[in-house]
Amino acid sequence: MTVKAYGAHAADKPLESMDIARRAPGAHDVQIDIAYCGVCHSDLHTVRAEWAGTLFPCVPGHEIVGRVASVGAHVTQYKVGDLVGVGCMVDSCRHCADCEDGLENYCDGMVGTYNGATTDAPGHTLGGYSEQIVVHERFVLRVRHPEEQLAAVAPLLCAGITTWSPLRHWNAGPGKTVGVVGIGGLGHMGIKLARAMGAHVVAFTTSENKRQDAEALGAHEVVVSRDADAMARQAKKLDLIVNTVAAPHDLDAYLSLLKRDGTMVLVGAPSSPHPSPQVFNLIMKRRALAGSMIGGIPETQEMLDFCAVHGIVADIEMIRADEINAAYERMLQGDVKYRFVIDSATLAA
Ligand code: NAP
Ligand code: ZN
Ligand code: ZN
Repeated sequence: MTVKAYGAHAADKPLESMDIARRAPGAHDVQIDIAYCGVCHSDLHTVRAEWAGTLFPCVPGHEIVGRVASVGAHVTQYKVGDLVGVGCMVDSCRHCADCEDGLENYCDGMVGTYNGATTDAPGHTLGGYSEQIVVHERFVLRVRHPEEQLAAVAPLLCAGITTWSPLRHWNAGPGKTVGVVGIGGLGHMGIKLARAMGAHVVAFTTSENKRQDAEALGAHEVVVSRDADAMARQAKKLDLIVNTVAAPHDLDAYLSLLKRDGTMVLVGAPSSPHPSPQVFNLIMKRRALAGSMIGGIPETQEMLDFCAVHGIVADIEMIRADEINAAYERMLQGDVKYRFVIDSATLAA
């Protein structure tokens, strides 16, 4: 079946309206009418080929929410009309140790929601800036928020899980001081989630004008990182730092804020490397520098359910599909509070 989508034909071309094909649902597939799709900085990195290996045409989008339109004969978990989500992956090998551990995100055969390998036309996956998607039920999530919050749930599917997973893995919670660096799409969710987990939250931003917002999002303290004195006051105070910054920067400025045995987790994925940190900054306090990529399906469901119970959604600005190129420019300038979400009804306009 043919559906409307928004994507680019080359790295130096703007996104434009296009028709794409979706496969007919197989026995284990769920066909989803997409209601909203969040706009992640990874969409921009990919569609502009800032990371290696972008395939064109490229239809980004991996913060997908909508309603089940039809299900294959063997689907057991979902029925027509259910509110569902799809995040950053639509398949994996399903039998390796990572898949068996529910960490399909680390499977070597993980298939991204866009730019992933598939036998469907055109030979790579096409993402959520589209009217519909067809996904194996194992990679579909249940949305338990009230329907009126659906648009603001979309960013949980990437920004939410990408911050949730390291916060959980490194035990954010009561008695822990957690830093969140970069108050964009990921960072604003990191603040909300770390706060809801019971941690003491310190937000780090380059933008003086985000100070009040960061407090409203749940930060106990806000540090403008250009303020050397304010940075110095955080020295050796933090147990964990989740660093979401999408550009190369001085990691030592943050490593020196960790306590003994503290960890800084990099989730921001800049297209060129950070300057190497000072080894002495790590060995002196047995500090760790780590990375983390999205999250597995079971922990994504756990995060969505936690957010539904705690009333947590993203702060969003809704856009029409034809505003996406302007939205990318605003995202590059840090001018988004705090996630753009595409209203899929505007794809056909
Ligand atoms: P975003 O909304 O653009 O937010 C990034 C934030 O980083 C900005 O709001 C800004 O916050 C800060 N920042 C940007 N440029 C900076 C610079 N030159 N120096 C210092 N701070 C800067 O992006 P996002 O969607 O949250 O994504 C962030 C990064 O995570 C991207 O690289 C994305 O590809 C990556 N990502 C990784 C995963 C994963 O699985 N690991 C998943 C999703 C996304 P302030 O204004 O507060 O300083
Ligand atoms: Zn993303
Ligand atoms: Zn696997």
